[in-house]
Amino acid sequence: MSSRAAAIAEAAKSFAGRLLQPTDPGYDEARRVHNGLVDKRPAVVACCRGVADIVDAVGLARTLGLEMSVRGGGHNVAGRAVCNDGVMIDLATMKGIHVNASAHTVRAQGGVLWSELNRETQLHGLATTGGVVSSTGIAGLTLGGGLGWLMPKYGLALDNLISAELVLADGRVLHVSADEHADLFWAIRGGGGNFGVAASLEYRLHPVGPMISGGVVVHPFARAKELLRFFKETCATAPDELMLAAGLQTAADGSGAKIAGIVTAHCGSPAQAEQALAPIKAFGPPIMDVMGPIPYSALNSMLDGAFPRGALNYWKAQFLTDLSDAAIETLVEAYANVPSPTSHLLIEHFHGAAARVPIDTTASTMRVTGFNVVIIAQWMSQEDTETHLSWARNTHKALTPFLSPLRYVNYLDKDDDHAAAGVYGPNYQRLRQIKTKYDPQNVFRHNVNIPPL
Ligand SMILES: Cc1cc2nc3c(=O)[nH]c(=O)nc-3n(C[C@H](O)[C@H](O)[C@H](O)COP(=O)(O)OP(=O)(O)OC[C@H]3O[C@@H](n4cnc5c(N)ncnc54)[C@H](O)[C@@H]3O)c2cc1C
Repeated sequence: MSSRAAAIAEAAKSFAGRLLQPTDPGYDEARRVHNGLVDKRPAVVACCRGVADIVDAVGLARTLGLEMSVRGGGHNVAGRAVCNDGVMIDLATMKGIHVNASAHTVRAQGGVLWSELNRETQLHGLATTGGVVSSTGIAGLTLGGGLGWLMPKYGLALDNLISAELVLADGRVLHVSADEHADLFWAIRGGGGNFGVAASLEYRLHPVGPMISGGVVVHPFARAKELLRFFKETCATAPDELMLAAGLQTAADGSGAKIAGIVTAHCGSPAQAEQALAPIKAFGPPIMDVMGPIPYSALNSMLDGAFPRGALNYWKAQFLTDLSDAAIETLVEAYANVPSPTSHLLIEHFHGAAARVPIDTTASTMRVTGFNVVIIAQWMSQEDTETHLSWARNTHKALTPFLSPLRYVNYLDKDDDHAAAGVYGPNYQRLRQIKTKYDPQNVFRHNVNIPPL
């Protein structure tokens, strides 16, 4: 038996979950992530059942001198949840969720998805800011930032994090919060998986739902420029209760027709929502108007069908300095030439509570009022890959004159592994100091890496 096989066999004696190697049943399913373009083969997939399993998996990787990656929900487009010939620490079966309805808090384990969290919190008419596609993991999304429908009212997902239970590179298990290891708590709110494995996360909840208001209005592509200008104007006066995004995409009915739409969520009273949404509904006539009262959970899964698991993805994303007429022209022209009916251009508006937090309160630097453009190339066949990569890269290049340096770490693609200095800007040096204190050997490096000093 090789020394690697012996170490795995030794760890397996007490491991509650499974340690899957390439010939084991279930290995291929466990290593799969959302993005079908990612095809990496870890030496071991450590399917953890609890905190002690995570500690042992980190220990195993260190004993074997292997790289390690961490999988929460497996949604990262760059495929950072899985690594070649290393240990993939897979939290997919860690699904515990406990809502404290009277305290308005929830603690959930690192493998929980937003659909699962919302389902439990909505039993009590409570929610926290979370991803708009329900199959996304809470852990990766929160540790990198966390944009969602409630962001203008309640901040980013990480602004609602109260504490986390973290497994460090040396195997210690720490409870981190504003009062315990405050430096680490600051760093994990934006610093992604650079500091340890979050076995569980505790969030603040707010009274939201079960019914809120929102949905989508869709217009012909011929009106895309006019619609985006209207979108910009509407965003300028949006109250905190209203979150807006605009999209250029292709109708899902198989007609191949390109369309332009505005997607909204309003978490205020029905009367306030009706008033805020009325001008958006009046910009017409739309091809489709499905905007009105909707269950919060339904709004959070409304877009799921546009992002099927296993589709091939390549994304580029960056904030705009302004959604100027010239930027709008460029966006519309780029989408007119899109080679895939499942690709999208998405423009997310940032304002309100998330934008008002001072930039040094957490590691996240997404504290702006403005627009984030997400270039989503999504296609189904490996043969066409180069065409779609080129479209995304060329679109990004064409937008360059309109881009600010700000980028959301969770949207970065595989080309961007060394983008941390730019992403974290004024918070970067402090992050490096904290990294040096808690992970001096850069054990957690399979991410947008913050290197120790
Ligand atoms: C279709 C789609 C929709 C999306 N929608 C949104 C959205 O609405 N809002 C938004 O903000 N983002 C969104 N994203 C981006 C999303 O935030 C990132 O993909 C994020 O990484 C997903 O988290 P995950 O746990 O599923 O990721 P994974 O792929 O499992 O992990 C990604 C990385 O996060 C870190 N990580 C994951 N779990 C842990 C853990 N428990 N402890 C420590 N580190 C961990 C690791 O570094 C890991 O490599 C979307 C992505 C996709 C593909």
